[in-house]
Amino acid sequence: ELRLSDRVLSIKPSPTLAVTNRAAELKAAGKDIIGLGAGEPDFDTPEHIKAAAIKAIQEGFTKYTAVDGTAGLKKAIIAKFKRDNGLDYQANQILVSCGGKQSFFNLALAFLNKGDEVIIPAPYWVSYPDMVLIADATPVCIECPQSQNYKITPAQLEAAITPKTKLLVLNSPSNPTGMVYSKDELLAIADVLRKHPHVWVATDDMYEHIIWTKEPFVNIVTVAPDLYDRALVLNGVSKAYAMTGWRIGYAAGPAKVIGAMKNVQSQSTSNPTSVSQVAAQAALDGDQDVLKPMVAAFKERHDYVVSALNQIAGVSCSPADGAFYAFANVEGAIAKMGLKNDLEFSEVLLNTVGVAVVPGSAFGLDGHMRISYATSLKVLEDAIGRIKKAIEG
Ligand code: PLP
Repeated sequence: ELRLSDRVLSIKPSPTLAVTNRAAELKAAGKDIIGLGAGEPDFDTPEHIKAAAIKAIQEGFTKYTAVDGTAGLKKAIIAKFKRDNGLDYQANQILVSCGGKQSFFNLALAFLNKGDEVIIPAPYWVSYPDMVLIADATPVCIECPQSQNYKITPAQLEAAITPKTKLLVLNSPSNPTGMVYSKDELLAIADVLRKHPHVWVATDDMYEHIIWTKEPFVNIVTVAPDLYDRALVLNGVSKAYAMTGWRIGYAAGPAKVIGAMKNVQSQSTSNPTSVSQVAAQAALDGDQDVLKPMVAAFKERHDYVVSALNQIAGVSCSPADGAFYAFANVEGAIAKMGLKNDLEFSEVLLNTVGVAVVPGSAFGLDGHMRISYATSLKVLEDAIGRIKKAIEG
């Protein structure tokens, strides 16, 4: 009899990828489907980034690189942290990986032991709890409802910390909510962490540049530099530069932890793709104005989607500050339609009006749906019209 590992039996496949695949299958079968599941910009990678990669191929830059990334890319990352965040890192504090996903995976495997608790505010990016489980540690998911803009409060954090707590995971702007922690909110969280020196923090800044707050982007380390020695900063080029397929993410933090993460990577994937590293370097070193039209488009779609969703009976969507997701409370609609939960709700949307969304429960908060608005306004108008029809009949 086939016996798989307990480890793999403890996890599930990524629900966002599952929704995307199911929508693609129905589409291939000839159904009229709008997929709003994927967390991927609809823009093309900017030309100067592609040109740098093409040149690298032509020049034969197609061999193994250093496991932790090329010297050139690490230099660009160090300069980026200085320029955007005022943070100082040395080369041995930086690890380049195959996407932000691998950065967190390396961290989980290098940093966590059985019994260690990781505090994850819910709704969360789907992969955090499962990667913690793969590492044999325990995810402690804290529900953060709409009334607090889906963000963890200092009181919730204080109550969740135990002697076994090893790590707090913050993600701002957030996938799936688009919410951004303000400087004051981060300062209050930092105050709690100061009382508990055994707790480390990982800040996932993947959506740093896709933001429309009045204040500039901050993370927990930039507002509380005294936490630098127990903080990991995770970031990457996937979302901001429309580079999801290139698979480049990076992590920065104390050299001992980064070195351990590098060892994990050296025994799994080795270096990220050589050519992609050249492309990522061009993205970070190049003209940052390429981000502007993309961010402006996301903001325009955000404004449309949030306002249109709030005009549907039983739907409540709080405005967000960044990323490209609308996270809407659909508890009223679920009740109105006589459904059990948001999983049923998203199935009904797919089967009756052909719109694929991801249920909030996939992100650890039932009664919601996540819409990715990384698609044209025209498609969004069509999709929201259909959702309205499914709910209001
Ligand atoms: N972190 C967050 C919050 C994300 O939403 C994602 C992608 O969905 C990632 C990390 C991983 O990105 P990558 O495609 O670089 O692995």
